[in-house]
Amino acid sequence: MILSDRKNEYYRALIDKNSEYEGIFYVGVKTTGVFCRPTCPARKPKFENCEFYGTAKEALLASFRPCQRCRPLSHPNHVSELVRKLVDAVEENPERRWTDEDFRQLSVDASTARRQFKKRFGMTFVEYARARRVGIALKHIRTGSSVIEAQITAGYESGSGFRDAFSRIMGAAPAHIGNHRILKASWLDTRLGPMIAVADEKALFLLEFVERRGLEREVERLRRRTASAVIPGCTSPIRSIESELNDYFEGRLTEFKTPLMTMGSPFQEKVWEQLRKIPLGRTASYADIATAVEKPNAYRAVAQANGANQLAIVIPCHRVINSNGDLGGYGGGVSRKEWLLSHEKKRAALEKTE
Ligand SMILES: [Zn+2]
Repeated sequence: MILSDRKNEYYRALIDKNSEYEGIFYVGVKTTGVFCRPTCPARKPKFENCEFYGTAKEALLASFRPCQRCRPLSHPNHVSELVRKLVDAVEENPERRWTDEDFRQLSVDASTARRQFKKRFGMTFVEYARARRVGIALKHIRTGSSVIEAQITAGYESGSGFRDAFSRIMGAAPAHIGNHRILKASWLDTRLGPMIAVADEKALFLLEFVERRGLEREVERLRRRTASAVIPGCTSPIRSIESELNDYFEGRLTEFKTPLMTMGSPFQEKVWEQLRKIPLGRTASYADIATAVEKPNAYRAVAQANGANQLAIVIPCHRVINSNGDLGGYGGGVSRKEWLLSHEKKRAALEKTE
């Protein structure tokens, strides 16, 4: 969950309909599946049913849909007809992948849509639709294998929207898996927010924060490279990484032992190998890594390989920072990078005194 340290403060603001918190947080209501702005006029949810998010996008990715009353995606005073039309169109068919042809059918100009969305919400309409779609697919992972098993048992009746949403992102629908290899995906709640883990029976293939930019493409690439379908479920590497992550966040673990499977180019593999050599509590610069892989001028390629890492935390790409000491970027968000580094520093200091 996001913003957990501030939960009490935000809940108070929510009850008070405090307009100073507009844009500071959004609240997802677990019982209704909608998310609201702090000043929503609707009856307020119970504390235990609230999840708080810093941005509308995060709420969408957690599978909440925008509230009809406070319209958290619109500017408080003004929302254009076009924006409203598109948000409604997504809600009618949230699993759809939007193309320019769809815009034409709604008699909407794609570039106007892009501009207006960006201005209002800081994301384009396509990003909005995507976040909503991924949110729905991830929800099925969160709710676990029972859902999909039920679907398989029932011979896969269509019309639930479930199959479409899930298979667009995760690959072939279960009924069509045939000879494909199967990877399983689980939703892991960590103290830095939800993560998704994908593994077969032998090794972990992917571990990412759910909100990571480009997650959908990563999963697509993974299933193409492995010729797999990804379905909700758990395997022993997932159970192992779940328990190791718990220990890591509790400060009890310094070395991950869950077997990993990486599928990078020879150069990427070399970079990732170097990343795993950066000790806990320490950082390296992109230039350091470039030197270590004997390509001292290739720090840009190193940065790219770093960003292509699909095993967050375990392959510690967060330990690579800029040469001038700035944190640099992080797919899971810079505040997470900062947290991880300070957590590891504390842990390493402890190790020395033990
Ligand atoms: Zn509302």
